Amino acid sequence: MSTVMIVDDSRTMRKMLSGTLKAEGYEIVGDAGNGEEALKLLENITPDLITLDITMPVMDGLTALAKIKEKNPDQKVLMVSAAGQKDKVLNALKMGAVDFLQKPFEPEAVINTVRKFL
Ligand SMILES: [Mg+2]
Repeated sequence: MSTVMIVDDSRTMRKMLSGTLKAEGYEIVGDAGNGEEALKLLENITPDLITLDITMPVMDGLTALAKIKEKNPDQKVLMVSAAGQKDKVLNALKMGAVDFLQKPFEPEAVINTVRKFL
């Protein structure tokens, strides 16, 4: 079973992502509300994929992505963006993110995108 960690400051978004992925048989091994929390969790777990929101308090997704890739260049990270964040998304892809999901999205889009990498 592939493992996923979800990082988003929106509890509603985390619930939606984890519910959708669990229903598809993925195991949610971590759930964090910002980049700092995510990095703390990553000291103890190595998920197969991380979904990483861009806009978050304390530590945003791009800063977190840089630190995650520095620690583990092979870590697969799927960005979650909002409309109007094209530059940040392109930056994230350059930094090694595998792909992105732009909000708002349907559960099917989550599944189809995650399936490409797991
Ligand atoms: Mg956010």
